[in-house]
Amino acid sequence: MAEAASGKVNMEKMVSLCQRRGFIFPSSEIYGGLSSCWDYGPLGVALKQNIKQAWWHAVVQERDDIVGLDTSILMHPRVWSASGHLEQFTDPLVECKSCHLRWRADELKANGCPSCGGELTEPHMFHLMFKTFMGPVEEEANVVYLRPETAQGIFVNFQNVLNTTRKRLPFGIAQMGKSFRNEITTGNFIFRSREFEQMEIEFFVKPGTDGEWFDYWLEERRRWYEKSGIRQENLRLREHTSSELAHYALKCYDIEYQFPMGWSELEGMANRGDFDLKQHASHSGKGLTYLDEETNQHIVPYIIEPSAGVDRSVLAFLCDAYDEEPDKDEIRTILHLHPSLAPIKVAVLPLSRKENLAKVAREVYADLRPCWMVQYDDTQSIGRRYRRQDEIGTPFCVTVDFQSLEDNQVTVRERDSMNQIRVPIAELKKTLAAKLKGEPLSVLPPGGQIWKKQEG
Ligand code: ATP
Repeated sequence: MAEAASGKVNMEKMVSLCQRRGFIFPSSEIYGGLSSCWDYGPLGVALKQNIKQAWWHAVVQERDDIVGLDTSILMHPRVWSASGHLEQFTDPLVECKSCHLRWRADELKANGCPSCGGELTEPHMFHLMFKTFMGPVEEEANVVYLRPETAQGIFVNFQNVLNTTRKRLPFGIAQMGKSFRNEITTGNFIFRSREFEQMEIEFFVKPGTDGEWFDYWLEERRRWYEKSGIRQENLRLREHTSSELAHYALKCYDIEYQFPMGWSELEGMANRGDFDLKQHASHSGKGLTYLDEETNQHIVPYIIEPSAGVDRSVLAFLCDAYDEEPDKDEIRTILHLHPSLAPIKVAVLPLSRKENLAKVAREVYADLRPCWMVQYDDTQSIGRRYRRQDEIGTPFCVTVDFQSLEDNQVTVRERDSMNQIRVPIAELKKTLAAKLKGEPLSVLPPGGQIWKKQEG
Protein backbone atom coordinates (compact mmCIF):
# COMPACT_ATOMS: atom_id res chain seq x y z
CA MET A 1 0.00 0.00 0.00
CA ALA A 2 1.24 3.50 -0.73
CA GLU A 3 2.32 5.63 2.22
CA ALA A 4 0.98 9.05 3.12
CA ALA A 5 1.59 11.49 0.31
CA SER A 6 4.03 13.47 2.40
CA GLY A 7 6.19 10.36 2.96
CA LYS A 8 7.75 9.68 -0.40
CA VAL A 9 6.83 12.49 -2.68
CA ASN A 10 8.18 16.00 -2.65
CA MET A 11 7.57 18.78 -5.13
CA GLU A 12 10.96 18.32 -6.80
CA LYS A 13 10.27 14.67 -7.59
CA MET A 14 6.79 15.50 -8.80
CA VAL A 15 7.94 18.31 -11.10
CA SER A 16 10.69 16.09 -12.45
CA LEU A 17 8.37 13.13 -13.11
CA CYS A 18 5.80 15.39 -14.76
CA GLN A 19 8.37 16.91 -17.07
CA ARG A 20 10.27 13.67 -17.81
CA ARG A 21 7.16 11.69 -18.70
CA GLY A 22 5.19 14.41 -20.46
CA PHE A 23 2.54 15.36 -17.92
CA ILE A 24 3.36 19.05 -17.48
CA PHE A 25 5.88 21.46 -19.05
CA PRO A 26 6.68 25.10 -18.23
CA SER A 27 4.82 27.38 -20.64
CA SER A 28 6.90 28.79 -23.54
CA GLU A 29 9.87 26.79 -22.27
CA ILE A 30 12.12 27.46 -25.28
CA TYR A 31 11.90 31.17 -24.42
CA GLY A 32 12.82 30.56 -20.80
CA GLY A 33 9.27 29.87 -19.60
CA LEU A 34 6.53 32.25 -18.54
CA SER A 35 6.24 32.68 -14.82
CA SER A 36 3.50 30.54 -13.29
CA CYS A 37 1.97 29.34 -16.54
CA TRP A 38 2.07 25.65 -17.41
CA ASP A 39 1.40 23.44 -20.41
CA TYR A 40 -0.15 20.00 -20.11
CA GLY A 41 1.68 17.36 -22.15
CA PRO A 42 0.25 14.21 -23.74
CA LEU A 43 -0.25 12.39 -20.43
CA GLY A 44 -1.19 15.51 -18.46
CA VAL A 45 -3.98 16.44 -20.81
CA ALA A 46 -5.40 12.93 -20.57
CA LEU A 47 -5.25 13.00 -16.76
CA LYS A 48 -6.82 16.45 -16.63
CA GLN A 49 -9.60 15.44 -19.00
CA ASN A 50 -10.30 12.33 -16.94
CA ILE A 51 -10.56 14.38 -13.74
CA LYS A 52 -12.92 16.85 -15.39
CA GLN A 53 -14.96 14.05 -16.87
CA ALA A 54 -15.20 12.28 -13.49
CA TRP A 55 -16.40 15.52 -11.88
CA TRP A 56 -18.94 16.20 -14.65
CA HIS A 57 -20.15 12.63 -14.44
CA ALA A 58 -20.68 12.88 -10.68
CA VAL A 59 -22.28 16.31 -10.55
CA VAL A 60 -24.18 16.57 -13.86
CA GLN A 61 -24.67 13.22 -15.56
CA GLU A 62 -25.58 11.20 -12.49
CA ARG A 63 -27.86 13.82 -10.94
CA ASP A 64 -31.20 15.15 -12.04
CA ASP A 65 -30.89 18.35 -10.00
CA ILE A 66 -27.85 19.89 -11.74
CA VAL A 67 -27.45 21.08 -15.33
CA GLY A 68 -24.32 22.14 -17.18
CA LEU A 69 -23.27 25.47 -18.66
CA ASP A 70 -20.30 26.88 -20.55
CA THR A 71 -20.13 30.67 -20.51
CA SER A 72 -17.66 33.03 -22.11
CA ILE A 73 -14.46 34.16 -20.40
CA LEU A 74 -15.00 37.79 -21.38
CA MET A 75 -18.10 39.27 -19.76
CA HIS A 76 -19.76 42.66 -19.58
CA PRO A 77 -17.56 44.87 -17.36
CA ARG A 78 -20.56 45.72 -15.20
CA VAL A 79 -20.65 42.09 -14.04
CA TRP A 80 -17.50 42.85 -12.06
CA SER A 81 -18.83 45.93 -10.36
CA ALA A 82 -22.00 44.05 -9.37
CA SER A 83 -20.02 41.07 -8.07
CA GLY A 84 -17.76 43.26 -5.98
CA HIS A 85 -14.62 42.18 -7.83
CA LEU A 86 -13.74 45.65 -9.13
CA GLU A 87 -13.65 46.96 -5.61
CA GLN A 88 -12.70 43.99 -3.52
CA PHE A 89 -10.66 41.57 -5.59
CA THR A 90 -7.33 42.81 -4.35
CA ASP A 91 -4.45 41.55 -2.27
CA PRO A 92 -2.15 43.72 -0.13
CA LEU A 93 1.20 44.03 -1.92
CA VAL A 94 4.48 44.99 -0.25
CA GLU A 95 7.88 45.39 -1.88
CA CYS A 96 11.33 44.92 -0.36
CA LYS A 97 13.28 48.19 -0.44
CA SER A 98 16.59 46.31 -0.87
CA CYS A 99 16.00 43.36 -3.23
CA HIS A 100 12.69 44.61 -4.72
CA LEU A 101 10.95 41.25 -4.42
CA ARG A 102 7.20 41.56 -3.94
CA TRP A 103 5.09 39.75 -1.36
CA ARG A 104 1.53 39.38 -0.20
CA ALA A 105 1.44 41.21 3.12
CA ASP A 106 -1.24 38.88 4.55
CA GLU A 107 0.97 35.83 3.93
CA LEU A 108 4.08 37.15 5.71
CA LYS A 109 4.95 35.70 9.08
CA ALA A 110 7.65 38.23 10.10
CA ASN A 111 8.18 41.95 9.49
CA GLY A 112 11.11 41.93 7.06
CA CYS A 113 11.55 40.59 3.53
CA PRO A 114 11.44 36.75 3.62
CA SER A 115 14.26 36.62 1.06
CA CYS A 116 16.86 39.12 2.36
CA GLY A 117 15.40 40.48 5.59
CA GLY A 118 15.23 43.99 4.09
CA GLU A 119 12.69 46.65 5.00
CA LEU A 120 9.30 46.42 3.28
CA THR A 121 7.18 49.22 1.82
CA GLU A 122 3.73 50.00 3.21
CA PRO A 123 1.13 47.66 1.65
CA HIS A 124 -0.91 48.87 -1.28
CA MET A 125 -3.92 47.04 -2.65
CA PHE A 126 -3.08 45.20 -5.85
CA HIS A 127 -5.85 44.27 -8.26
CA LEU A 128 -5.93 40.61 -9.29
CA MET A 129 -8.03 40.80 -12.46
CA PHE A 130 -6.32 40.81 -15.85
CA LYS A 131 -7.42 43.75 -17.96
CA THR A 132 -7.57 43.94 -21.72
CA PHE A 133 -9.40 45.92 -24.42
CA MET A 134 -12.34 44.86 -26.55
CA GLY A 135 -12.08 46.06 -30.16
CA PRO A 136 -9.36 48.10 -31.85
CA VAL A 137 -9.31 51.17 -29.60
CA GLU A 138 -7.40 50.94 -26.36
CA GLU A 139 -9.37 53.31 -24.19
CA GLU A 140 -11.02 53.11 -20.79
CA ALA A 141 -14.51 52.63 -22.29
CA ASN A 142 -13.36 49.42 -23.97
CA VAL A 143 -11.80 47.74 -20.95
CA VAL A 144 -12.83 44.15 -20.35
CA TYR A 145 -11.50 41.62 -17.86
CA LEU A 146 -10.52 38.00 -18.07
CA ARG A 147 -12.83 36.31 -15.59
CA PRO A 148 -11.21 35.46 -12.23
CA GLU A 149 -13.84 32.76 -11.55
CA THR A 150 -16.43 30.89 -13.59
CA ALA A 151 -19.20 31.52 -11.05
CA GLN A 152 -20.39 34.89 -12.39
CA GLY A 153 -21.26 33.35 -15.77
CA ILE A 154 -23.65 31.08 -13.89
CA PHE A 155 -25.32 33.84 -11.84
CA VAL A 156 -26.02 36.02 -14.86
CA ASN A 157 -27.60 33.04 -16.65
CA PHE A 158 -29.79 32.05 -13.72
CA GLN A 159 -32.99 33.20 -15.41
CA ASN A 160 -32.06 31.70 -18.81
CA VAL A 161 -31.46 28.30 -17.27
CA LEU A 162 -34.56 28.48 -15.11
CA ASN A 163 -36.77 29.42 -18.08
CA THR A 164 -35.37 26.80 -20.42
CA THR A 165 -35.07 23.83 -18.07
CA ARG A 166 -38.04 24.45 -15.77
CA LYS A 167 -35.97 23.23 -12.83
CA ARG A 168 -37.49 23.60 -9.39
CA LEU A 169 -35.56 24.44 -6.23
CA PRO A 170 -33.26 23.04 -5.08
CA PHE A 171 -31.21 22.78 -8.26
CA GLY A 172 -27.71 23.59 -9.41
CA ILE A 173 -25.73 24.77 -12.42
CA ALA A 174 -22.25 23.39 -13.04
CA GLN A 175 -19.47 24.82 -15.16
CA MET A 176 -15.83 24.04 -15.87
CA GLY A 177 -13.43 26.45 -17.49
CA LYS A 178 -10.44 28.74 -17.43
CA SER A 179 -10.04 31.53 -14.92
CA PHE A 180 -7.29 34.12 -14.62
CA ARG A 181 -5.82 35.89 -11.61
CA ASN A 182 -2.80 38.15 -11.62
CA GLU A 183 -1.55 36.58 -8.38
CA ILE A 184 1.22 38.45 -6.53
CA THR A 185 2.99 35.32 -5.40
CA THR A 186 2.73 32.13 -7.38
CA GLY A 187 4.60 28.89 -7.07
CA ASN A 188 4.40 25.37 -5.76
CA PHE A 189 4.20 24.15 -9.35
CA ILE A 190 0.61 24.12 -10.64
CA PHE A 191 -0.86 24.85 -7.17
CA ARG A 192 -1.04 28.59 -7.72
CA SER A 193 -0.81 29.88 -11.26
CA ARG A 194 -2.12 32.91 -13.08
CA GLU A 195 -4.15 30.91 -15.59
CA PHE A 196 -5.99 27.89 -14.23
CA GLU A 197 -9.17 25.88 -14.56
CA GLN A 198 -12.06 25.65 -12.17
CA MET A 199 -14.96 23.25 -11.72
CA GLU A 200 -17.77 25.13 -10.01
CA ILE A 201 -21.31 24.37 -8.94
CA GLU A 202 -23.78 27.04 -7.91
CA PHE A 203 -26.55 25.23 -6.06
CA PHE A 204 -29.73 27.28 -5.57
CA VAL A 205 -31.83 26.48 -2.50
CA LYS A 206 -34.72 27.90 -0.51
CA PRO A 207 -33.54 30.26 2.21
CA GLY A 208 -33.66 28.39 5.48
CA THR A 209 -32.50 25.13 3.90
CA ASP A 210 -29.04 26.52 3.11
CA GLY A 211 -27.45 25.15 6.30
CA GLU A 212 -28.29 21.54 5.55
CA TRP A 213 -27.36 21.87 1.88
CA PHE A 214 -24.01 23.35 2.87
CA ASP A 215 -23.29 20.28 5.04
CA TYR A 216 -24.53 18.00 2.29
CA TRP A 217 -22.17 19.45 -0.33
CA LEU A 218 -19.20 19.53 1.97
CA GLU A 219 -19.59 15.81 2.60
CA GLU A 220 -20.48 14.99 -1.02
CA ARG A 221 -17.38 16.73 -2.38
CA ARG A 222 -15.06 15.28 0.26
CA ARG A 223 -16.40 11.82 -0.64
CA TRP A 224 -15.79 12.45 -4.35
CA TYR A 225 -12.07 12.96 -3.76
CA GLU A 226 -11.95 9.81 -1.67
CA LYS A 227 -13.90 7.79 -4.21
CA SER A 228 -11.52 8.99 -6.91
CA GLY A 229 -8.54 7.66 -5.00
CA ILE A 230 -7.38 10.24 -2.45
CA ARG A 231 -6.64 8.78 0.98
CA GLN A 232 -8.89 9.95 3.77
CA GLU A 233 -5.98 10.96 6.00
CA ASN A 234 -4.75 13.42 3.37
CA LEU A 235 -8.01 15.38 3.31
CA ARG A 236 -9.37 17.67 5.98
CA LEU A 237 -12.00 20.36 6.34
CA ARG A 238 -11.16 23.82 7.64
CA GLU A 239 -13.69 26.50 8.52
CA HIS A 240 -12.86 30.12 7.66
CA THR A 241 -12.58 32.46 10.61
CA SER A 242 -14.85 35.51 10.50
CA SER A 243 -11.92 37.74 9.49
CA GLU A 244 -11.14 35.46 6.53
CA LEU A 245 -14.71 35.35 5.18
CA ALA A 246 -15.16 36.81 1.69
CA HIS A 247 -17.52 39.80 1.40
CA TYR A 248 -20.26 37.68 -0.20
CA ALA A 249 -20.12 34.70 2.15
CA LEU A 250 -22.16 33.74 5.20
CA LYS A 251 -19.97 30.71 5.83
CA CYS A 252 -16.94 29.10 4.17
CA TYR A 253 -15.00 25.88 4.52
CA ASP A 254 -11.95 24.75 2.63
CA ILE A 255 -11.45 21.14 1.67
CA GLU A 256 -7.71 20.93 2.22
CA TYR A 257 -5.24 18.39 0.92
CA GLN A 258 -1.91 17.52 2.46
CA PHE A 259 0.28 18.71 -0.42
CA PRO A 260 4.07 18.26 -0.22
CA MET A 261 4.34 21.87 1.01
CA GLY A 262 1.68 21.31 3.69
CA TRP A 263 -2.10 21.47 4.11
CA SER A 264 -3.58 23.81 1.50
CA GLU A 265 -6.92 24.55 -0.13
CA LEU A 266 -8.08 22.12 -2.78
CA GLU A 267 -11.70 23.23 -2.97
CA GLY A 268 -13.70 26.02 -1.38
CA MET A 269 -17.25 25.64 -0.08
CA ALA A 270 -19.23 28.83 0.42
CA ASN A 271 -22.71 29.73 1.53
CA ARG A 272 -23.15 32.87 -0.59
CA GLY A 273 -26.65 33.61 0.68
CA ASP A 274 -28.65 35.78 -1.73
CA PHE A 275 -25.76 38.20 -2.35
CA ASP A 276 -25.08 37.40 -6.01
CA LEU A 277 -28.62 37.28 -7.39
CA LYS A 278 -29.55 40.45 -5.51
CA GLN A 279 -26.45 42.30 -6.73
CA HIS A 280 -26.98 41.32 -10.35
CA ALA A 281 -30.70 42.12 -10.13
CA SER A 282 -30.04 45.60 -8.81
CA HIS A 283 -27.15 46.36 -11.21
CA SER A 284 -28.89 44.99 -14.32
CA GLY A 285 -32.43 46.03 -13.45
CA LYS A 286 -33.63 42.50 -14.29
CA GLY A 287 -35.62 40.44 -11.82
CA LEU A 288 -33.61 37.39 -10.73
CA THR A 289 -36.15 35.64 -8.59
CA TYR A 290 -37.90 32.30 -8.34
CA LEU A 291 -41.64 31.78 -8.02
CA ASP A 292 -42.23 29.56 -5.03
CA GLU A 293 -45.27 27.47 -5.98
CA GLU A 294 -46.17 26.66 -2.39
CA THR A 295 -46.49 30.25 -1.25
CA ASN A 296 -46.95 31.87 -4.66
CA GLN A 297 -44.25 34.35 -3.66
CA HIS A 298 -41.18 35.44 -5.58
CA ILE A 299 -38.10 34.55 -3.57
CA VAL A 300 -34.36 35.04 -4.06
CA PRO A 301 -32.71 31.65 -3.64
CA TYR A 302 -29.62 31.18 -1.48
CA ILE A 303 -26.55 29.74 -3.13
CA ILE A 304 -24.22 27.02 -1.95
CA GLU A 305 -21.00 27.00 -3.97
CA PRO A 306 -18.56 24.08 -4.17
CA SER A 307 -15.64 25.57 -6.11
CA ALA A 308 -12.80 23.25 -7.09
CA GLY A 309 -9.55 23.83 -8.95
CA VAL A 310 -8.76 21.45 -11.79
CA ASP A 311 -5.00 22.01 -11.62
CA ARG A 312 -4.91 21.63 -7.85
CA SER A 313 -6.86 18.40 -8.27
CA VAL A 314 -4.32 17.18 -10.85
CA LEU A 315 -1.54 17.90 -8.36
CA ALA A 316 -3.38 16.28 -5.45
CA PHE A 317 -4.22 13.12 -7.41
CA LEU A 318 -0.63 12.84 -8.65
CA CYS A 319 0.89 13.37 -5.19
CA ASP A 320 -1.49 10.93 -3.54
CA ALA A 321 -0.81 8.28 -6.16
CA TYR A 322 2.98 8.59 -6.00
CA ASP A 323 4.89 5.70 -4.46
CA GLU A 324 8.35 4.17 -4.52
CA GLU A 325 9.27 0.55 -3.86
CA PRO A 326 12.64 -1.20 -3.74
CA ASP A 327 13.16 -3.14 -6.96
CA LYS A 328 16.32 -5.26 -6.95
CA ASP A 329 19.05 -2.57 -6.97
CA GLU A 330 16.73 0.10 -8.24
CA ILE A 331 13.54 1.83 -7.22
CA ARG A 332 10.16 1.12 -8.76
CA THR A 333 8.20 4.37 -9.02
CA ILE A 334 4.46 3.85 -9.25
CA LEU A 335 1.49 6.11 -9.67
CA HIS A 336 -1.40 4.28 -8.00
CA LEU A 337 -3.91 6.38 -9.94
CA HIS A 338 -7.54 5.32 -9.84
CA PRO A 339 -8.19 3.47 -13.14
CA SER A 340 -10.81 6.05 -14.12
CA LEU A 341 -8.18 8.80 -13.90
CA ALA A 342 -5.14 6.99 -15.31
CA PRO A 343 -4.11 8.63 -18.61
CA ILE A 344 -3.35 5.27 -20.24
CA LYS A 345 -5.57 2.37 -19.21
CA VAL A 346 -3.76 -0.50 -20.92
CA ALA A 347 -0.33 -1.04 -22.48
CA VAL A 348 0.16 -3.75 -25.11
CA LEU A 349 3.66 -5.19 -24.95
CA PRO A 350 4.88 -7.81 -27.46
CA LEU A 351 7.69 -9.81 -25.90
CA SER A 352 9.72 -9.51 -29.10
CA ARG A 353 9.58 -7.54 -32.32
CA LYS A 354 9.41 -10.71 -34.41
CA GLU A 355 6.86 -10.28 -37.15
CA ASN A 356 4.56 -13.17 -36.19
CA LEU A 357 4.35 -11.86 -32.61
CA ALA A 358 4.03 -8.21 -33.60
CA LYS A 359 1.11 -9.11 -35.86
CA VAL A 360 -0.90 -10.60 -33.00
CA ALA A 361 0.07 -7.75 -30.67
CA ARG A 362 -1.01 -5.17 -33.25
CA GLU A 363 -4.35 -6.93 -33.64
CA VAL A 364 -4.89 -6.87 -29.86
CA TYR A 365 -3.90 -3.19 -29.80
CA ALA A 366 -6.30 -2.32 -32.64
CA ASP A 367 -9.09 -4.19 -30.87
CA LEU A 368 -8.64 -2.32 -27.55
CA ARG A 369 -8.04 1.21 -28.86
CA PRO A 370 -11.65 2.12 -29.59
CA CYS A 371 -12.45 1.39 -25.92
CA TRP A 372 -9.62 3.07 -24.03
CA MET A 373 -6.42 5.07 -24.28
CA VAL A 374 -3.98 2.25 -25.04
CA GLN A 375 -0.23 2.40 -25.63
CA TYR A 376 1.83 0.03 -27.75
CA ASP A 377 5.43 -0.37 -26.65
CA ASP A 378 7.95 -2.78 -28.14
CA THR A 379 11.20 -1.09 -27.10
CA GLN A 380 13.70 -2.40 -24.53
CA SER A 381 13.25 -5.26 -22.07
CA ILE A 382 9.83 -6.25 -20.79
CA GLY A 383 10.90 -5.30 -17.24
CA ARG A 384 11.76 -1.77 -18.31
CA ARG A 385 8.51 -1.45 -20.20
CA TYR A 386 6.55 -2.50 -17.09
CA ARG A 387 8.43 0.12 -15.03
CA ARG A 388 7.66 2.83 -17.58
CA GLN A 389 3.97 2.01 -17.39
CA ASP A 390 4.05 1.87 -13.57
CA GLU A 391 5.57 5.33 -13.48
CA ILE A 392 2.73 6.83 -15.50
CA GLY A 393 0.04 4.92 -13.62
CA THR A 394 -1.13 2.47 -16.31
CA PRO A 395 -3.34 -0.04 -14.43
CA PHE A 396 -2.84 -3.02 -16.78
CA CYS A 397 -0.20 -4.34 -19.16
CA VAL A 398 -1.05 -6.99 -21.72
CA THR A 399 1.93 -9.09 -22.79
CA VAL A 400 1.92 -11.04 -26.01
CA ASP A 401 4.49 -13.86 -25.98
CA PHE A 402 5.42 -16.80 -28.18
CA GLN A 403 3.00 -19.04 -26.37
CA SER A 404 0.23 -16.64 -27.41
CA LEU A 405 0.78 -17.81 -31.00
CA GLU A 406 -0.13 -21.32 -29.94
CA ASP A 407 -2.80 -20.91 -27.25
CA ASN A 408 -4.34 -17.58 -28.31
CA GLN A 409 -3.90 -16.29 -24.78
CA VAL A 410 -2.12 -13.25 -23.39
CA THR A 411 -0.87 -12.21 -19.96
CA VAL A 412 -2.59 -9.42 -18.06
CA ARG A 413 -0.36 -7.84 -15.41
CA GLU A 414 -1.72 -5.58 -12.71
CA ARG A 415 0.23 -2.43 -11.81
CA ASP A 416 -0.15 -2.38 -8.01
CA SER A 417 0.35 -6.05 -7.12
CA MET A 418 2.35 -7.00 -10.23
CA ASN A 419 0.27 -10.21 -10.24
CA GLN A 420 -0.53 -11.76 -13.57
CA ILE A 421 -3.31 -13.79 -15.09
CA ARG A 422 -3.50 -15.59 -18.41
CA VAL A 423 -6.54 -14.72 -20.50
CA PRO A 424 -7.87 -15.98 -23.86
CA ILE A 425 -7.63 -13.15 -26.41
CA ALA A 426 -11.33 -13.61 -27.13
CA GLU A 427 -12.06 -12.75 -23.47
CA LEU A 428 -9.55 -9.90 -23.17
CA LYS A 429 -11.75 -6.88 -23.77
CA LYS A 430 -14.46 -8.07 -21.39
CA THR A 431 -11.87 -8.98 -18.75
CA LEU A 432 -10.12 -5.61 -18.93
CA ALA A 433 -13.45 -3.77 -18.78
CA ALA A 434 -14.33 -5.62 -15.56
CA LYS A 435 -10.88 -5.14 -14.01
CA LEU A 436 -10.87 -1.42 -14.84
CA LYS A 437 -14.17 -1.18 -12.99
CA GLY A 438 -12.55 -2.74 -9.92
CA GLU A 439 -13.09 -6.51 -10.23
CA PRO A 440 -10.23 -8.34 -8.40
CA LEU A 441 -7.56 -9.76 -10.70
CA SER A 442 -8.14 -13.20 -9.21
CA VAL A 443 -11.63 -13.40 -10.74
CA LEU A 444 -10.92 -15.27 -13.97
CA PRO A 445 -12.74 -15.31 -17.31
CA PRO A 446 -13.66 -18.67 -18.92
CA GLY A 447 -10.40 -20.39 -19.86
CA GLY A 448 -8.31 -17.97 -17.78
CA GLN A 449 -5.75 -18.92 -15.14
CA ILE A 450 -3.54 -17.41 -12.45
CA TRP A 451 -0.09 -16.88 -13.96
CA LYS A 452 3.37 -16.77 -12.52
CA LYS A 453 5.00 -13.44 -11.75
CA GLN A 454 7.53 -12.67 -14.42
CA GLU A 455 8.91 -9.15 -14.37
CA GLY A 456 11.77 -9.72 -16.87
P1 ATP B 1 -6.28 30.81 -2.32
O1 ATP B 1 -6.74 31.17 -0.92
O2 ATP B 1 -5.41 29.58 -2.39
O3 ATP B 1 -5.78 31.97 -3.11
P2 ATP B 1 -8.95 31.22 -3.07
O4 ATP B 1 -9.63 31.04 -1.76
O5 ATP B 1 -8.72 32.57 -3.59
O6 ATP B 1 -7.60 30.38 -3.09
P3 ATP B 1 -11.25 30.49 -4.51
O7 ATP B 1 -11.53 31.87 -4.95
O8 ATP B 1 -12.08 29.88 -3.43
O9 ATP B 1 -9.70 30.37 -4.14
O10 ATP B 1 -11.25 29.56 -5.80
C1 ATP B 1 -11.79 28.26 -5.81
C2 ATP B 1 -10.77 27.23 -6.23
O11 ATP B 1 -10.10 27.62 -7.43
C3 ATP B 1 -9.65 27.04 -5.21
O12 ATP B 1 -10.02 26.13 -4.21
C4 ATP B 1 -8.54 26.49 -6.07
O13 ATP B 1 -8.68 25.09 -6.23
C5 ATP B 1 -8.76 27.16 -7.40
N1 ATP B 1 -7.82 28.30 -7.54
C6 ATP B 1 -8.00 29.56 -7.10
N2 ATP B 1 -6.94 30.34 -7.40
C7 ATP B 1 -6.06 29.55 -8.06
C8 ATP B 1 -4.78 29.75 -8.64
N3 ATP B 1 -4.19 30.95 -8.63
N4 ATP B 1 -4.16 28.70 -9.24
C9 ATP B 1 -4.75 27.48 -9.27
N5 ATP B 1 -5.96 27.23 -8.76
C10 ATP B 1 -6.62 28.24 -8.14
